[in-house]
Amino acid sequence: MNFAGAHILSVDQFERADIERIFSVADAMEPYALRQKVTRVLEGAILGNMFFEPSTRTRVSFGCAFNLLGGEVRETTGFKSSAIAKGESLHDTARVLSGYSDVICMRHPDSGSVGEFAVASRVPVINGGDGANEHPSQALLDLYTIQKEVKDKGGSLDGLRIAMIGDLKFGRTVHSLSRLLRLYKNLHVVLVSPEELAMPEKYVELLREAGHTVEISSDLPGSIKHVDIVYSTRIQEERFNSKEEADLYRGKFRLNQAIYTKYCEPNTVIMHPLPRDSRSEANELDNDLNQNPKLAIFRQADNGVLVRMALFAMILDVVDLVDRFSKPVNWYHARREPKIDL
Ligand code: ASP
Repeated sequence: MNFAGAHILSVDQFERADIERIFSVADAMEPYALRQKVTRVLEGAILGNMFFEPSTRTRVSFGCAFNLLGGEVRETTGFKSSAIAKGESLHDTARVLSGYSDVICMRHPDSGSVGEFAVASRVPVINGGDGANEHPSQALLDLYTIQKEVKDKGGSLDGLRIAMIGDLKFGRTVHSLSRLLRLYKNLHVVLVSPEELAMPEKYVELLREAGHTVEISSDLPGSIKHVDIVYSTRIQEERFNSKEEADLYRGKFRLNQAIYTKYCEPNTVIMHPLPRDSRSEANELDNDLNQNPKLAIFRQADNGVLVRMALFAMILDVVDLVDRFSKPVNWYHARREPKIDL
């Protein structure tokens, strides 16, 4: 696809070659994300970061990615502080805000809303999550992470065995990831959820049509025995009618070190789009996994910056200029990895 000026609304836009391009640009962003170099390639450009649903990682990492390329970020969070609360339509908001920005990232609770917004926008729009529908940049960073984490197996995504666990009905990250997995070959996908929160049939069909084997399960230890990736997710409380309804499913599929040691193959990678729900009644990924070197959740979050930098560089068509506008870092960047006691 031609990325210059494109909206990024769904992972369905991508072919395999597009993904490879994004990942190779993301790799090239690493010295900037690690503060080994600075680039001013987007100096003067403005990102409109509009988040009408709670967000920490996606909002901040999109903002950081833009800043790391030298651009500025303007932000709106929540409905209350926006004119949408005064009855303004998505169309009008898009028409106006796209006059202030070079690119817009948007999150909104309604499926399809970001697409609707993009129609009226005069600048490219990136979907930062539209309801239970899609979260394309998350799926890209998930896949990028998987590829890096399975490097010892040759880094190939073909033949991958992955278990997706938790709220597969409302979880947009697993929806986008499933759509993206159609591009790869011979996968074994295990879908683990309470029956009421099963993966919607259309995504199961998509995976099967792509030639993958799909196993549906509600048995957590049994389903994670022979997989390369365990991808855990949070019960999407905000999509339920009440907290009480979400409570019925919370804590049903917990992974901790004892279960991991007993059931998983030694190299199984643990992922989660985050936030993990660490309240005692949920605790889907126990803190005792923090010492497990295969817990990739924070590397996954770090990778979000690289992938989002790549998207900006490609959409604003500056990939070949990033290094030309670079210079050394002036400050002492004291980033340390926390110690893992093995
Ligand atoms: N942060 C992810 C999302 O926005 C996952 C989650 O919220 O559970 O979809």
